[in-house]
Amino acid sequence: MSEHSQVIEEYLLTLYKLDRSGEKAKAVTLANRLDTSPPTVHATIARMQRDGLVDVNKSKLLSLTKDGQKIAEDIAYRHNLSEFFLCNTLGIPWYEVHQHAHLLEHAMTPVVVEKLAEFLGKPEFCPHGTPMPGKALPQNTINLMETKQGMTVEIAMIGEVLEDSIDLMKILQEHHIMPGNQHTVVEKTDVMRTISLESDKGPTSLPFHVAEKIFVFEVSRNKTARKQQ
Ligand SMILES: [Zn+2]
Ligand SMILES: [Zn+2]
Repeated sequence: MSEHSQVIEEYLLTLYKLDRSGEKAKAVTLANRLDTSPPTVHATIARMQRDGLVDVNKSKLLSLTKDGQKIAEDIAYRHNLSEFFLCNTLGIPWYEVHQHAHLLEHAMTPVVVEKLAEFLGKPEFCPHGTPMPGKALPQNTINLMETKQGMTVEIAMIGEVLEDSIDLMKILQEHHIMPGNQHTVVEKTDVMRTISLESDKGPTSLPFHVAEKIFVFEVSRNKTARKQQ
């Protein structure tokens, strides 16, 4: 079992995820993200700073130290592995495994992690497409907002921030916005700030702020080649 408390692990994992999505974090970012009061967050960060897990720079931006990074990667691995197990072995719905994995990830000994990884065939991605620590998305992956009208794309990853909203994840699953599924970009409407997609399961429209957290790669730009009935 890890020598760090579940709370510290949660902070480390959140900082790791923010860093991976290229976002800079301050204490207030963590307070919002973890739904905790700023004084509590400040106290925890001070403790983590003292333990050599995070650095705070002059502009109060937080970053993981080497030790913090290592522990965070370990938790991220346990999280993704748990999700994979819950989704693919236990058959818990794709849209809700993130919530269950949040608890499970803190309760796994190194032996359990190793055996579970072997049992699952050492998966490289979580069911939402997030690569395991040390792995990356294919190089040609772009965010859905960078696509052009008429492009057919395959979903590669649902950004981890979106996983926090079970309601949103349910909608994404209902519209087959899941890794491995293909959609064609119909149009982007600046006035409504939505992007419309179409797949053989029907049309979908997503707000820009969600679309920019979804990652895809281009399959083809030939609209008529689509198999539709
Ligand atoms: Zn997750
Ligand atoms: Zn996931």
